Amino acid sequence: MRAVSFSFENYRNLQPGTLLPDAGVNVIAGDNAQGKTNLLEGLWLFTGGRSFRGAKDGELVRMGEDSHGAASLSLTFWAGGREQQGEIHLQGGRRRASLNGVSRRSASAMVGAFCAVVFSPDHLSLVKDGPTERRNFLDGAICQLSPAYASLLNRYQRTLQQRNALLKDIPRHRELLDTLEIWDDRLAGFGGAIMEERLRYVELLRPAAEAIYVGISREREVLGLEYQMTAAPKGREPGSCREALSRALSQKRRDDLGAGFTTAGPHRDDLLLTVNGAAARSFGSQGQQRSVVLSLKLAEAAVLEKALGEPPVVLLDDVMSELDVSRQEYLLNQMEGRQIFITCCDPSSVRLLEKGKVFTVQAGAVTQEAPL
Ligand code: ATP
Ligand code: MG
Repeated sequence: MRAVSFSFENYRNLQPGTLLPDAGVNVIAGDNAQGKTNLLEGLWLFTGGRSFRGAKDGELVRMGEDSHGAASLSLTFWAGGREQQGEIHLQGGRRRASLNGVSRRSASAMVGAFCAVVFSPDHLSLVKDGPTERRNFLDGAICQLSPAYASLLNRYQRTLQQRNALLKDIPRHRELLDTLEIWDDRLAGFGGAIMEERLRYVELLRPAAEAIYVGISREREVLGLEYQMTAAPKGREPGSCREALSRALSQKRRDDLGAGFTTAGPHRDDLLLTVNGAAARSFGSQGQQRSVVLSLKLAEAAVLEKALGEPPVVLLDDVMSELDVSRQEYLLNQMEGRQIFITCCDPSSVRLLEKGKVFTVQAGAVTQEAPL
């Protein structure tokens, strides 16, 4: 998988232009606030995901008079053995997308065509913050593997909201208690399927993440990851997650009615990350936390590569400046055979590369440097 040509107009602070990236390493260099991350973010949108900076679509359009309130992005990419074409149009906070000339129902319907993995310093929240970030990581990664998972998540969320609303109504309308059973059953169905998908995904991710972490830490430390469930199944047979959630929902019914919300289910689960057996969130050093996140992201790329039969594009925002030379080398060796985009302030810090292209971004203007 690789980007062949990327054009942008009225996107963030970027001057209208076209980027013709290398099939291997692409260094995006420039001072702070020039538009480097904006460039990666624009590419990322073609995965069908939301901005990895958590920006709303309305914030992506260039501010100012000349924009007419609309931004256009166009990407020619190589995937599945052929050249493909994606278009994204942003206007009035809405995103319209088309793939190979066919317009898509929604931007998320692009998922699966152009696949990428992104690491940005914001992703350190994956280790540092609460479980929401880790659930989002798992869900985002699974969505790229199986686009149907997104609608499963949606259905679960909607059912959860309805069950929660019912929990709040029941104290005033006791007759509604009988209907709770129906919602429990639906929730256990969708929730059990989510738990199964996440369990399966963590099993795929673990060996890759462990191996990468061993490499990054020079064999000094061991990474552990485990999916922690609020309604853990006893076995691993098909349907056991559904059963476990169903049981937990009825056992916790009294608590849930008291709280006015659902206390068990995949919306409360977590991914436990440990370094040498201790929780990375509480005990990990800065460097260890960064290495954990990098390992997860690279493992995500490895799992995706296996599933797709071709490597996803790797977007690395601001990683190099924070890694020592041996870690940089390890990281770049991991990238063999993949197209990568790395942003940095000082291109000389990544000039240990012999091949590839260097682009400079200055006040939103992207220019390619003369060959190295
Ligand atoms: P750093 O090295 O600090 O990470 P960067 O080169 O990655 O910098 P970006 O985050 O890509 O910088 O770009 C930030 C610039 O883009 C800021 O000056 C910001 O004001 C500008 N910007 C962001 N959104 C828009 C927008 N919608 N319209 C115009 N400019 C914008
Ligand atoms: Mg940046």
